[in-house]
Amino acid sequence: MLLEVKNLRVDYHKVPAVRGLNIEIAQGEVVCMVGPNGAGKSTTAMTIAGVKRLTSGQILLDGVDISRTTPEAVAAMGVSLVPEGRRIFGRMSVRENLLIGAPLARKRGQQAQSLDRMYELFPILEQRRDQPAGQMSGGEQQQLAIARAMMTGPRLLIVDEPSLGLAPQFVDLVFSTFVRLRQEGVTILVVEQSSRRALALADRLYLVRSGGVVMEGPVDELTSNAGFEAAYFGEV
Ligand code: ATP
Repeated sequence: MLLEVKNLRVDYHKVPAVRGLNIEIAQGEVVCMVGPNGAGKSTTAMTIAGVKRLTSGQILLDGVDISRTTPEAVAAMGVSLVPEGRRIFGRMSVRENLLIGAPLARKRGQQAQSLDRMYELFPILEQRRDQPAGQMSGGEQQQLAIARAMMTGPRLLIVDEPSLGLAPQFVDLVFSTFVRLRQEGVTILVVEQSSRRALALADRLYLVRSGGVVMEGPVDELTSNAGFEAAYFGEV
């Protein structure tokens, strides 16, 4: 397994947000974590990335415990997080925003190579590379946030609520990006509130409620499971 989250508990001021959560992601998989507002999805994403400290449990990357590692070290080990809300620097150019994503790639040649790869994957970013990022649409900015996270060539890309606040056509655009990244062999964990697009994209899905996983499995199994909709909408 590339990532194993075991019996994760995370608190805010001693109030549990995540309680006994378990997830696993194999190399090359696209996995979605869905669930309602406040279920603990963002907290889990931030804890895997080392931004938030866990109270107990384990987070293993390739079998190595990373749960007490700094965010910088987790990033260096190959986990890249696109946080909720994108956090693009609006006055800086698209290119500058991308370069912020690769502080570890000190050698210029490496940076240039990563930039070229991102422009290939996201042609719109090449077209807009010298423009202030804030002038782009929300969907384009989300693509930029994803490309920035990809600059270090992560083994695991975690994207928190990529469709938040986007018009439907831009949501489609962002999700088509994941399809392209999957073809490149990138392992992706997508966090979403709504399950519809997640179901169309993912290999496997985790349904999270009240800080724990209540249902999980391959997407084709879950969609044919009559209990899934009921569990998703909190009826069971
Ligand atoms: P959303 O879709 O709204 O982001 P989520 O599933 O990602 O929801 P979290 O944001 O992880 O859920 O929140 C889980 C729980 O932790 C909620 O009860 C929330 O109120 C609480 N929580 C989140 N952030 C904080 C914080 N900074 N301080 C205190 N409590 C928090």
